Amino acid sequence: VIEVNHLSKKFGETDVLKDINGTVKSGQVICVIGPSGAGKSTFLRCLNLLEKPTSGEVKFDGTDLTHVSSKQLLDLRERMGMVFQSFNLFPNMTVLKNLMLAPIRVKHMSEAEAEKTAIALLDRVGLKEKANAYPSSLSGGQQQRVAIARALAMNPEVMLFDEPTSALDPEMVGEVLEVMQELANEGMTMVVVTHEMGFAKSVADEVWFMADGYILERSSPDDMFEHPKNDRAKDFIGKII
Ligand code: ATP
Ligand code: MG
Repeated sequence: VIEVNHLSKKFGETDVLKDINGTVKSGQVICVIGPSGAGKSTFLRCLNLLEKPTSGEVKFDGTDLTHVSSKQLLDLRERMGMVFQSFNLFPNMTVLKNLMLAPIRVKHMSEAEAEKTAIALLDRVGLKEKANAYPSSLSGGQQQRVAIARALAMNPEVMLFDEPTSALDPEMVGEVLEVMQELANEGMTMVVVTHEMGFAKSVADEVWFMADGYILERSSPDDMFEHPKNDRAKDFIGKII
């Protein structure tokens, strides 16, 4: 589904991504790990062109996103959901309205259908009873589950997650990972920046280790966490375990 070729990204004089290559196949779950400043978030944002690459290709379903019109880009971007570390819900809207907004505005779904979809999704993330609550009244874990449901409301083919649990209190991490695990079990293609090893081990098909703007190692989760080959990866994994 996603193919990245010689992707680079500079911010001014800083080379954040140097030569990134990789393929994400349909149904695969890729976990991206690596030290702070490695370029993980920038990489994820380049995948849906929230950040414009300096050079290289990002192909989604065969189309190079770096060479499409802005209208085409909007269409393609709708097919990728994104969930951030900070939940980014609209604070002035109920949970239900948060989920209904994009399908109505962007997909021109009817109010009734958007509501039906939203309720089904809230049920799926275990938050149906919170439909009429405002985000500020929810716990962090609940807000993040709403954020996932909101992304799913657009019926994406790929979900991108940037450290979705790192802003959460420890006791809320599990409920969010559980929703993500179910999504993976249902066959969703996912790219997840996370250091949650238990999740990576049970869900990821591959783990990519990034440092200094390169992907220095890609392995199965067992190999990555038990027998990393790259020295930087060894050092990093030694610190997070
Ligand atoms: P973390 O684990 O802390 O989230 P990361 O691996 O996600 O780190 P990025 O956020 O991708 O790293 O940042 C990589 C580098 O790019 C950092 O040095 C950062 O300062 C720089 N950077 C990121 N975004 C911008 C920007 N918009 N303008 C300038 N520099 C940026
Ligand atoms: Mg980041």
